[in-house]
Amino acid sequence: MGDKPKEERRTYYCSFCGKSQHDVLNLIASPRAFICNECTDLCAEVCDEARAEKAAKSIIAKTLKVKRSIKRVLSARFWGGGDG
Ligand SMILES: [Zn+2]
Repeated sequence: MGDKPKEERRTYYCSFCGKSQHDVLNLIASPRAFICNECTDLCAEVCDEARAEKAAKSIIAKTLKVKRSIKRVLSARFWGGGDG
């Protein structure tokens, strides 16, 4: 009865932000590190941003390419074409 059960109550901390498992909703464990749900959210946001930036760049590149080829076609009509 007075005896405390001998259980190891270890508190785990997020390896990124240092919050303890009690301060966050989820703490995901890997063999070497922990990450909390807040940090995974942040990571997802950063990855999304990077992905969005990449997508935007490729859209811009494509648009420029299309513009250039339209220009070429138009100028070919205006200046080159000529078999009347
Ligand atoms: Zn964290």
